[in-house]
Amino acid sequence: MKIKMPENVSRIIGTLTEHGYEAYAVGGCVRDSIIHNTPNDWDITTSALPAQVKALFRRTIDTGIKHGTVTIMIGNEGYEVTTYRIDGEYEDGRHPKQVEFTSSLEEDLRRRDFTINAMACNDEGIVDLFGGREDIDNRIIRCVGEAVERFSEDALRMLRAVRFSAQLGYTIEEGTAAAITALAPTISKVSKERIHMELGKLLLSDNPDYISKIHTLGLGQYIFPVYEALKDKDLAGRLLKALPKDIAFRYAGAMYDAGDGAVRKMLKELKLDNLTIKRSADIIKLHDLGVCILKIPTSDAYERMVRAIASQHGVDEFKDALAFDKVFYTVCGDNERCELVKHELEILDIILKRGDALKIGDLAISGDRLIEMGMESGKQIGDVLKMLLDDVIANPEHNNAQYLEMKAREAAAKV
Ligand code: ATP
Ligand code: MG
Repeated sequence: MKIKMPENVSRIIGTLTEHGYEAYAVGGCVRDSIIHNTPNDWDITTSALPAQVKALFRRTIDTGIKHGTVTIMIGNEGYEVTTYRIDGEYEDGRHPKQVEFTSSLEEDLRRRDFTINAMACNDEGIVDLFGGREDIDNRIIRCVGEAVERFSEDALRMLRAVRFSAQLGYTIEEGTAAAITALAPTISKVSKERIHMELGKLLLSDNPDYISKIHTLGLGQYIFPVYEALKDKDLAGRLLKALPKDIAFRYAGAMYDAGDGAVRKMLKELKLDNLTIKRSADIIKLHDLGVCILKIPTSDAYERMVRAIASQHGVDEFKDALAFDKVFYTVCGDNERCELVKHELEILDIILKRGDALKIGDLAISGDRLIEMGMESGKQIGDVLKMLLDDVIANPEHNNAQYLEMKAREAAAKV
């Protein structure tokens, strides 16, 4: 089998070999090419030292020079070129404590985590010293070398095994799985950032239900206790598979019965960004409030309720929660509620298209106008505007300046 490399990758490898160095595409890109997946990026490994690499290319960036990585820029694209290296013990960061350069490709491949990630290729063909091709054929995730040893060097690899297993739909080889079970508690040493990167890739993969492996392998209690406490992991798995590939939805699905407080706390602990934390927690909050299940007979009352929820919780938040609930009740087989959610989504759509007022800024009267009318700025104005918004949410036809001014005068006279 021959791997078709992008032209720029071939050029970089060509330049290095013309100058007497070895150079290969390596790792994920080789794996993905063999599987016929499109590689995210093409990493290059070489016998040349960083200074030697830099001497051969016009535009380079010192990305991780200490670890042997130089980025070569061609047009707007960057290609990471890393000197063959042997890793020392990993510390609680992204990189090993110290690295040692080597002139042996074999040693560089040996330090890599899994056989499927430890192949290299160039125009002469594929270098596969640890049986990566065979493991791809058999759909297996297996450590390079002794699994216990490899997980002791870097505990994150245990979670990476689950992540690759989910991305590819592969089985974790027995010895590799047994080593994870034995060393599971050591995952606590790994930084939260590294953990959430892998968890995120797992949850956004085609097999997010493989999250259950963190439970069966014993990792869950150390990295994702809220998922661990979930009552029905099978339902969570089906839910995750059906939810959109959006990280906020997927985290919400993995903690669907935990309550928004627990979701917020868990995601904060994992050091996720504030937007994801808020979106996930809001989905669960609105799910728990049962915003989709109210059944109100007349369509006017129904629309009023939808406007009120959208106004109170925010349109985007409400939409997310309804999208979540639609999937949730479908997966639960609760057709009645599912229909209600769909109906509610339709109503929300109508309301938004019609442009009904949902926030103070949408009112046909402004705070400035109220001041002109003689009201005091500050709390009074705020209260009046809120009262007017409530009125308009109940009766959209009231959103005109004449009516609202009349209402405001009435209110001001009462105070
Ligand atoms: P992705 O498509 O998600 O980027 P990838 O295989 O490229 O997958 P990366 O995390 O980008 O994964 O790592 C690139 C390569 O570096 C891997 O294929 C593997 O050979 C090696 N590698 C990465 N992290 C580790 C680790 N913790 N231990 C050993 N080798 C690793
Ligand atoms: Mg990569």
